[in-house]
Amino acid sequence: MSQLRDLYQEVIIDHGRHPRNFGILSQANFTKEGFNPLCGDRVCLYILKTAVLDDIKFEGAGCAISMASASLMTEVLKGKTPDEIDKIFEDFHLLVTTGKCPNEVGKLASLAGVSEFPARVKCATLAWHTLKAALAGDQHVVSTE
Ligand code: ZN
Repeated sequence: MSQLRDLYQEVIIDHGRHPRNFGILSQANFTKEGFNPLCGDRVCLYILKTAVLDDIKFEGAGCAISMASASLMTEVLKGKTPDEIDKIFEDFHLLVTTGKCPNEVGKLASLAGVSEFPARVKCATLAWHTLKAALAGDQHVVSTE
């Protein structure tokens, strides 16, 4: 179990240091900023969505958890339908708040340990709440506070 835990931490460190899909997406039809004042994490999402989430990129700065979560989110959600995104969002939220999830969540499982640190849950969910608000057409900057 401790080896599994080490592996998960490697995934977080790797994605935190080398975020995937990092940068601006010029053809984005949704953009959204999110801010977590508790930790100082900031993300800006660039989304190209038609019937599915065709492409997503992000920029931002913050702790390893926030950057890794945003990076993993872009990988996991690309190509997904709105219904699939809702389902994954629910699974992810359950995972980071309770540490377990009934469904297979793949690489996202690396963030299960966040549930042991309630203050970090906002770091892990920042990009996800920002995505939800972007797709809902909410004009305000997302704040976790
Ligand atoms: Zn943070």
